[in-house]
Amino acid sequence: MRQHNPIVCRELREMPESAAVYKIVKCPTCRKPVPWLPSQRYRPFCSERCKLIDLGEWANEGHVIPGEPLQEEPATDDGTCG
Ligand SMILES: [Zn+2]
Repeated sequence: MRQHNPIVCRELREMPESAAVYKIVKCPTCRKPVPWLPSQRYRPFCSERCKLIDLGEWANEGHVIPGEPLQEEPATDDGTCG
């Protein structure tokens, strides 16, 4: 008794449409899979951070990170010596 169902075979061969609606790209910075969707405003990057890193703005002088002031405290120089 054979119950060969050609419809099942076809569904297995073809990708489900739900998965083929958008394609997956890899974030150029961290290689993380990113769905190519309009909601991904930083695509092909996964995040704004990765985008800035790739553009070189992350370490650029123009891109100042708020809340991280440079605190260069010199070594204690009060002259005390044993
Ligand atoms: Zn990334």
